[in-house]
Amino acid sequence: MRDEVLILGGGVAGCAAAIALARKGRAVTLIEREPTPRHKVCGEFLSGEALEDLHALGIDVGGLGAVPIDHVRLAAARRAAEAPLPFPAASLTRKALDTALIAEAVAAGVCVEQGRSVKGLERTAGGTWKAALDDGTTREAATAFLATGKRDLRGYARPEDPQRWVAFKMYFQLAPGQAAELAGASELMLYPGGYGGIQPVEGGIANLCCVVQQRFLARVGNRWENFLAQMQRDCPHLAMRLAGAKPLLAKPIAITHIPYGFIRRTSDEGLYCIGDQAAVIPSFTGDGISIALHTARCAVAAHLAEEPAPVFQAKLRSALRAQMRLAEFAADGLNNAVARAVLPFCLRVWPGVMRVTARLTRVAQQAAAAPQTAAG
Ligand SMILES: Cc1cc2nc3c(=O)[nH]c(=O)nc-3n(C[C@H](O)[C@H](O)[C@H](O)COP(=O)(O)OP(=O)(O)OC[C@H]3O[C@@H](n4cnc5c(N)ncnc54)[C@H](O)[C@@H]3O)c2cc1C
Repeated sequence: MRDEVLILGGGVAGCAAAIALARKGRAVTLIEREPTPRHKVCGEFLSGEALEDLHALGIDVGGLGAVPIDHVRLAAARRAAEAPLPFPAASLTRKALDTALIAEAVAAGVCVEQGRSVKGLERTAGGTWKAALDDGTTREAATAFLATGKRDLRGYARPEDPQRWVAFKMYFQLAPGQAAELAGASELMLYPGGYGGIQPVEGGIANLCCVVQQRFLARVGNRWENFLAQMQRDCPHLAMRLAGAKPLLAKPIAITHIPYGFIRRTSDEGLYCIGDQAAVIPSFTGDGISIALHTARCAVAAHLAEEPAPVFQAKLRSALRAQMRLAEFAADGLNNAVARAVLPFCLRVWPGVMRVTARLTRVAQQAAAAPQTAAG
């Protein structure tokens, strides 16, 4: 079977690219390993840029119940500081967002194959891309978009994650007073070995999403219960938020191997890498979804303009590099014991820093660069 475009992975980036290409009249097949969207490890913060891109795709996040977020609060040790966000933002569960994106892709005419996992991808002698699926069948197209997010395909692996990050997500029903305190806020909490975020999502519940380096998790026996207790000892603000809270999942969702700072250098002819397969920004920025949408939009524009994929990938890398460097620099600061001790105090004195950092770690909303055609 031959299709014009094959998209591997039906998360944010894959669906966004599929919808945009189908609306331009391309025949698109999208392969997604999960039979239906499920909870994913994600802070579920939607930045202003993400909201704009989702709106352009026809996703009405307000109609899905997204909760407006208008300020950020940073808590470390016994202090907290807050600042208004310099852009509109919201939060929405990934399950709701991914469900809406898949539905929009189907409505746009994309052939969506859910519950099929891509096991391998190779370039044929004829120059097409052939994906081998878990049911033994293959799909072939002249162009492919790699959008498998956190999961790497054999032959296209991203580099090792030297810090061996582990991420968890758990939903809580907060006590009414704490839910009222959290309303409209995205809270970032710092502790040795990582950081976590808590914010309200639709349905009157809160999402706690946190990352920790493996060696710090090992110190508490690699157990979620112990880690949750340790985070609350290190950050009393979190202990206050979770006082009387009820966990809503039987166990947290967890992932490992998060190559923060990765930006793909190049690609092969006809293979556009988008989303987390293009770049992985430190999670505290809450900008991964925005980057997924941005890279999908830019890759679609490049493909339509017949810009060769290796040229697109290299241009995308240089366009994202400054934002990534700043985010990594700030992430190193969050992991520093002295910075953790003084940061909330400094931010109280100079709350503008939080706004500036929030602004500078955003992906540029314009196309990464005007696509260059195959002819140059
Ligand atoms: C701890 C943490 C917190 C985060 N918090 C935020 C936040 O608050 N805000 C924000 O904007 N970003 C956040 N991010 C980043 C954000 O989650 C990602 O950047 C974003 O989901 C990337 O989108 P994607 O489409 O590349 O991947 P995904 O959305 O993960 O989609 C990839 C899809 O590919 C499918 N797939 C995988 N392998 C295969 C295969 N072999 N065959 C077929 N399908 C396959 C998967 O099932 C999945 O649906 C966070 C990340 C982490 C780790």
